[in-house]
Amino acid sequence: MSVVVVGSINQDVVARVNRIPGPGETVLASAMVRTGGGKGANQAVAARRAGGASVAFVGSVGSDQEGEGLRHALVVDGIDVSGLSQVEGPSGMAFISVDDSADNAIVVVPGANAAATTLTPEQRSLVATASVLLTQLEIPTDLVQDAASTRGAQAWHLLNAAPSAPFVAASAALLASVDVLIVNQHEALDIAGVNDLETAVMSLAPSVRALVVTLGRRGSIVVCGEERADVPAFAADAVDTTGAGDTFCGVFAAALAASGRVPGDVDAALLADAARAGAAAAAIAVTRTGAQDAVPSAAEVAALIERANE
Ligand code: ATP
Repeated sequence: MSVVVVGSINQDVVARVNRIPGPGETVLASAMVRTGGGKGANQAVAARRAGGASVAFVGSVGSDQEGEGLRHALVVDGIDVSGLSQVEGPSGMAFISVDDSADNAIVVVPGANAAATTLTPEQRSLVATASVLLTQLEIPTDLVQDAASTRGAQAWHLLNAAPSAPFVAASAALLASVDVLIVNQHEALDIAGVNDLETAVMSLAPSVRALVVTLGRRGSIVVCGEERADVPAFAADAVDTTGAGDTFCGVFAAALAASGRVPGDVDAALLADAARAGAAAAAIAVTRTGAQDAVPSAAEVAALIERANE
């Protein structure tokens, strides 16, 4: 059982501000943290800390100091980095402002994440071993497509279509390769090209084996064929929601890998169980600052689920 995450890896610079500045405005931050980030790397960390599956990360860092630090952080987490390339130039960077109500605004500079549009032979062998391939769209869509067509016949492809703009541009080709499409509410509306959630769900669900729409503190919706499940969020005192979606996706992927089930054998109950695990991990993550730093251990998640069941 292995999860292979193909995606972005960034150095995050997180500033705490009273409120997110508007155009032309400057605000002073009360604190700053530098931490590992990037949707791909965050999701790999979340999948790994969930336990139950081996996790490999496929992506690119730059030839700068940040790249070395980012690689090291994944190794410390027990993630296989044999598919992490180093390319000449800067690593990806993300500048994140988090305000007093835990909302965030993010600018991503892709750097090394934009370098590759095809997998290297070594990355290809790794992707072929995956039972779950997990991708997002902070890397070129051609690379996502390459990974999707490289995965084994019985392997899941979970696409977290975030950010949604590249998906809108490449949707038909990408959709055909997806087993489970995971999007937040904003992405669902954007991809469906509508402004009502129910219409978006009805329009997206038939195109994929399964659809998961996350709704922040309102939980998530899982749709699988004719079946549908609403998965509530766990109560949390949120201080920073950065990485909630990534934590959810990584833990969701690990749960599917641990189930031993294959895409042809999917049902809403399986996906709802995976979404519940993802929701529990994300509820803990939002109580902490940062992305990878905020991802809880399997023991913390199990304890939260146990308390919720009492
Ligand atoms: P982000 O971009 O901030 O990382 P996202 O927009 O991709 O996140 P969300 O829908 O905000 O994803 O959150 C994913 C899941 O995390 C939700 O379905 C929910 O289970 C959990 N979650 C998010 N915010 C909260 C919160 N404030 N309290 C409890 N759980 C939360």
